Amino acid sequence: MRTHLCGEVNEQLAGESVRLCGWVAARRDLGGLIFISLRDRAGLIQVVVEPDSPAFGDAEGLRNEYCVRISGAVRLRPESQWNANMATGKVELVAEQVELLNASAPLPLMMSDEDGEEIRLKYRYLDLRRPRMQRNMRTRARMYRAIRDSLDGRGFTEFETPILTKATPEGARDYLVPSRVHAGHYFALPQSPQLFKQLLMMAGMDRYYQIARCFRDEDLRADRQPEFTQLDIEMSFVEEQDVQDLAEAMIRDVFRDTLGVELPHPFPRLSWRDAMERYGSDKPDLRIPMELVSIDEHVKHLEFKVFAGPANDAAARVAALRVPGGADLSRKQIDGYADYIGRFGARGLAWIKVNDLDAGLDGLQSPVAKFLDPAAWQGIAATTGVQSGDILLIGAGDWLTASNFMGQLLVRIGVDRGLAADGWAPLWVNQFPMFEWDEGEQRFFAMHHPFTAPVDPDPEALLADAGQALSKGYDMVLNGAEIGGGSVRIHNPAMQQAVFRLLGIGEAEAQAKFGFLLEALKFGCPPHGGIAFGLDRIVALMSGEESIRDVIAFPKTTTAQCLLTGAPSQIPDEQVAELHIKNLKSDA
Ligand code: ASP
Repeated sequence: MRTHLCGEVNEQLAGESVRLCGWVAARRDLGGLIFISLRDRAGLIQVVVEPDSPAFGDAEGLRNEYCVRISGAVRLRPESQWNANMATGKVELVAEQVELLNASAPLPLMMSDEDGEEIRLKYRYLDLRRPRMQRNMRTRARMYRAIRDSLDGRGFTEFETPILTKATPEGARDYLVPSRVHAGHYFALPQSPQLFKQLLMMAGMDRYYQIARCFRDEDLRADRQPEFTQLDIEMSFVEEQDVQDLAEAMIRDVFRDTLGVELPHPFPRLSWRDAMERYGSDKPDLRIPMELVSIDEHVKHLEFKVFAGPANDAAARVAALRVPGGADLSRKQIDGYADYIGRFGARGLAWIKVNDLDAGLDGLQSPVAKFLDPAAWQGIAATTGVQSGDILLIGAGDWLTASNFMGQLLVRIGVDRGLAADGWAPLWVNQFPMFEWDEGEQRFFAMHHPFTAPVDPDPEALLADAGQALSKGYDMVLNGAEIGGGSVRIHNPAMQQAVFRLLGIGEAEAQAKFGFLLEALKFGCPPHGGIAFGLDRIVALMSGEESIRDVIAFPKTTTAQCLLTGAPSQIPDEQVAELHIKNLKSDA
């Protein structure tokens, strides 16, 4: 039907006849001269229909998003009319024939970034015609290809694992599918292929990967989807470092092949404890050049209980954030930040503006300056490296809580003041605690998942001091987002049982849920480990999109609905009855 793609017509084709197909992205009628912006998957080209062209009558009837075929000659534009923003900006197509392939009804949206998300999702097939969305989808496809090239070249085998399966414990609620054949029985959709990939290691497959759809029925936050895509990887006969080396090499290949970007080599590594101590986050954004500093030792001796209390408590901390040039923050801005971190458990935010560093305590402007003495201030100034014109923001409390709210503050100020450097800042975070203690439920939760191995291989040691145990888990972090996480797994049945016990999973429950895994562990299971990457987030980062919905062809809303198809939808009584469940009617 066509000889070229619109976006590929260039000055080399000047003088030649071409036939293009596409959609009318815009049409301007300059009284006697009609300009059409014609779009296909490769981009846009300007079409001119001159008054004496045989195509003029047909061109007059065109409207936006009409699907057309246009034939004509490629003409070089005069230099003064070159458009540097378009790949085809040096040429135009002089139309000789305009054929209407299909008209379009009046458009329900503007087909621009101005459109609201609801209307974009309802008419997703129109929204996806836009160059930005076309580009995002193709970035995704290039990334998939780069992943496959990289892993295939490194001895990995691609697998598929079941979608109709049994619950997998990644900590979210399962999506369930009632069985028609077995009354009262349900399949669960996989939260991840975790157990199958481990079974494939037990099956001697050695190096596994899958671009896998995962399902988690969570109350969705803005950047989550009920179904999302992971690059899932598992390897036999490996330690943490082997998995990390492979994952790092692969992600470097993928950035090079997809974007032409060279990521740093090697990625820096931070233990979870250091990440929390220095950045107040287990996914620090290393593009922001600020760190938290503990000032406990300098305020221990003060009368001022707000600082001295936590400073003298081993389980607490007093953390300072130095904002370079931050003495310009207004009272209102500081109050705003105090409110903000209040949401994360802060009970206050102390601040010290340093007007003149050389003047000691007299050079400070701060509600807490009167509680400091020269020794305290000297120590604080030295450890934080504060300069005249800076502000120190200080938070105190229980170590984890204070680290977290000060970390939230660091990022917020980094964003507000535009401090993040351009580019890519990847790192590894490792040495996570095995378990998190939940005060409310009075029990442990797995920090990663129940199949992650502890650093100490002795099950008795783990049972004796579970709260202090570190795991062989690791996360890959990029620009403040956790893009991948994994671990070396437990490969010995006694350790697996000890972890289940600590998680409050009794023997009967363990058998019912994971009996097949415990059984498989008995037959010469190789040491193994792996990782999974959140591909939606990675493409969003690569595409400069805030929302993962902009890199998924047909995403769901934050209330887990598909506005295009209307899913989830009600179904007829007969169909429901076959599933041995009751049909609840609602008008919604
Ligand atoms: N299955 C894990 C997850 O989905 C990743 C892994 O441990 O490999 O987070």
